[in-house]
Amino acid sequence: MSAHDYDVAVVGASTAGCTAARLFALGGARVALVEKRPAMDAYKTVCTHFIQSSARPTIEKLGLAPLLQDHGAIDNAVDLWTRHSGWIRSSPDAPRGFNVTRRTLDPLLRELAAGTPGVELLSGWTATGLIGDDRPEGVTIENTAHEQRSLRARLVVAADGRDSKIALLAGAEGRERPHGRFFYWGYWRGIRPATDRSKMWILDPDCAYTFPNEDDLTVVLVGPHRDRVGDFRADLEGAYHRMVNSLPEGPDLRGAELQGKLLGKLDLPSVMRPAAKPGLAFVGDAALASDPLWGVGCGWAFQSADWLVQETGDALDDPSRLDAGLERYRRAHRRRLLPHHMMISDISSGRPINPIERRLYRAAARDQVVRHAFERVGSRRSSPAVVLHPRVLARVIAARPRRPSAVH
Ligand SMILES: Cc1cc2nc3c(=O)[nH]c(=O)nc-3n(C[C@H](O)[C@H](O)[C@H](O)COP(=O)(O)OP(=O)(O)OC[C@H]3O[C@@H](n4cnc5c(N)ncnc54)[C@H](O)[C@@H]3O)c2cc1C
Repeated sequence: MSAHDYDVAVVGASTAGCTAARLFALGGARVALVEKRPAMDAYKTVCTHFIQSSARPTIEKLGLAPLLQDHGAIDNAVDLWTRHSGWIRSSPDAPRGFNVTRRTLDPLLRELAAGTPGVELLSGWTATGLIGDDRPEGVTIENTAHEQRSLRARLVVAADGRDSKIALLAGAEGRERPHGRFFYWGYWRGIRPATDRSKMWILDPDCAYTFPNEDDLTVVLVGPHRDRVGDFRADLEGAYHRMVNSLPEGPDLRGAELQGKLLGKLDLPSVMRPAAKPGLAFVGDAALASDPLWGVGCGWAFQSADWLVQETGDALDDPSRLDAGLERYRRAHRRRLLPHHMMISDISSGRPINPIERRLYRAAARDQVVRHAFERVGSRRSSPAVVLHPRVLARVIAARPRRPSAVH
């Protein structure tokens, strides 16, 4: 055995960690996948499961797509309503992502990763420390019986989510941006008429969405502006139902059944940090935890893990080539996601929709060229810069106002 027990130690066996572990191992690496939750079927409860089509190539590369389809995942498409535009309907030919609950997704992905030759899943072990001074050389882990182990690895991958302990240990501070809204949501079974289309409402300043999933389970979420937190504290159920009932073409919850309780998150700042330093990479929420409203986190968890493996997978046996690959990954992550993150976190401040955005929504509702550009940005398949293409921009500028209250 070499001085390293593993080529890669991945901390966190959720979306990003399982993706990184499986893709590294498919390239021949020996991978330790450390997960603090002991159960194989553990899943994330705070998520609303809309996976953007930008992540579909990675999901297919993992071999996960047919498993999701076998378990009833829905090929997703989203229609968006604003009072400045009415409905912006998703094009029939737009590439699709998946709507699938984390209860289904997480165990499937974890089993897939754990069953990949070269991956050793260490469930029920928490990463508690980094080995090495300047450059990490592995992690120390501890189980619930307080047994400790050291895992020496050439590369440490932090896939441990938005409150990344590895980032704290490595002194890799993130830049935080506050959120101007809060969220309450429930899982409803039996909404009729049944639909496989997701809907989103930009109510300026409030927001809402409905995401149908497998087993006739629909997430119905409201995202009011922070000014309204008092109403929801005083009467959560009443305020939730009043807001859902006010949505143009909103879901009819009268014959549907709430599964469990309404869930909520009152404070969700966005956090972004440089996605790599020598010997250490951050993937998924550990690199960028964004506003949940836009359903980007799972997709970016899949994609960032994929980008990391592409840049470093063949350089694990040489520290200087590995660090060069890590630097390329850091730059690629920033180039691909920073423009989206700046736009998303600006809107998530809760500020009013500005006149340029109003024109963009109006044009996207009526004009196919703008709608295609709008969809590519919204599904995160293209940079926000595509809207600045002269052919698109001219049509946005030409979009005239409509009567504010009409609904298509
Ligand atoms: C309200 C809400 C709604 C959302 N809705 C959507 C949506 O519709 N679509 C979407 O794409 N995204 C959504 N997201 C975001 C999405 O949930 C995350 O972006 C995604 O789960 C990130 O995956 P990850 O693998 O990076 O981290 P996580 O899923 O957070 O996983 C981190 C893993 O690391 C483990 N771990 C943590 N610390 C340690 C440690 N020290 N040792 C060992 N293991 C450890 C954890 O147990 C966990 O398994 C939403 C988020 C919120 C808050």
